[in-house]
Amino acid sequence: MPVKGYCADFLFTGDQVINNGCVVYEGDRILEAGTKGSIEKCKDPVVLKGYTLMPGLIDAHIHITGFRSGDYIKESLITPYATLVARAIKDLESVIMAGYTTIVDAGSIISLELKHAEKEGAIVSPRIIAAGYPVSQTYGHGDIHFLPPELVDPRTSKLKMPFQILLCDGPSECRKAARYALRTGADFIKVFTTGGIASEKDRPEYQQMTREELNAIVEEAYRAHKFVHAHAEGREGIIAALEAGITRIAHAIYLDEDGISLAKEKNAVIIPTLTIIDLILRFGEASGLPEWAIQKTREAQDHHINSIKKAYKEGIKLATGTDFFINSRSYNVYGLNSLEILLLVNEIGLSPIEALKAATVNSAYVAGLTNEIGLLKPGYKADTIAVKGNPLEDPTLLLGPDNVHLVVKNGTVYKDTIVTNQTV
Ligand SMILES: [Zn+2]
Repeated sequence: MPVKGYCADFLFTGDQVINNGCVVYEGDRILEAGTKGSIEKCKDPVVLKGYTLMPGLIDAHIHITGFRSGDYIKESLITPYATLVARAIKDLESVIMAGYTTIVDAGSIISLELKHAEKEGAIVSPRIIAAGYPVSQTYGHGDIHFLPPELVDPRTSKLKMPFQILLCDGPSECRKAARYALRTGADFIKVFTTGGIASEKDRPEYQQMTREELNAIVEEAYRAHKFVHAHAEGREGIIAALEAGITRIAHAIYLDEDGISLAKEKNAVIIPTLTIIDLILRFGEASGLPEWAIQKTREAQDHHINSIKKAYKEGIKLATGTDFFINSRSYNVYGLNSLEILLLVNEIGLSPIEALKAATVNSAYVAGLTNEIGLLKPGYKADTIAVKGNPLEDPTLLLGPDNVHLVVKNGTVYKDTIVTNQTV
């Protein structure tokens, strides 16, 4: 198998920074990563002057929907499904061009279907780890309160929509819903243990799903060697998720001391998704989101920042998820995934290196791919990006997709603007 390699001024392996470091691949795997002097296997590496090499970034909570507005009914029921898929493919391309080589889709049928196209190499896309159909109680955050329930659930709906939800009430229905999600090819199970912002008739504080229901879902996931990712915003729902053995907790808006100590005990990772809160407040009205969603976001923001700050101070691991679910027609949001890295630095107080660990090694855990991605280490997938300058000192460099000059996924080059720049 051909061996190829890159060297740069800085190499961030995911746990350390090496000056004048190199990474060498054989096929789709990393063969070696280390200082330039220690690398023997690559005879003729590409030398990137003025660049930083690092693992491909990971968005640990996103939704690929093809939506171009917050008008749920129009996008779900009027926009042709193929149009949504075409837009979704464009959004996936924007995400990988920004240096994100893996995404965790926390609920979307389009991702569940497109992950096969990604594996075949038919589309330019990050690796997709997809929940597909999330599991929700009736009147849960996943239930779409303003639609008839038979339209919401794919098992009764005659229509295909990008968001559909497996509604279940009682442990045996929830066990069946989890099995149905696995039957469709879900990489993990997504559940909602609280209400939320984008659900009309509940609130983030409301606990959803009983312990028995959660236990049934978690058991089914584990039996199939899969894991569970919980949408959990209110205190009780966060604690219930952790007690049921769920260690991937998204949002955590009203996280208190009890939740923090339980998260610590369980070694859970929190995916705060600060970005979506920020974007809803800045652009929600213009993108047609309903007023009730914007109002709940306003109420949540300060609590959210305080909860995540406390969790960070207590040493809870954080991962980067944007929770993007709508793109704008005029302004490409997908591709701005590194906003989450910047918010972790600017709002929560992480150092740039800690925020980059959140976007690599910690998010690899959320993807269920620890030991596969998130580090530049022998045997790991050859996912690497090169950024002009040093994002470990200035993480804002990651926000401009044009600063990401090299994107390699599985040893295949998806973007290389380095040669062009040197010849200019
Ligand atoms: Zn989400």
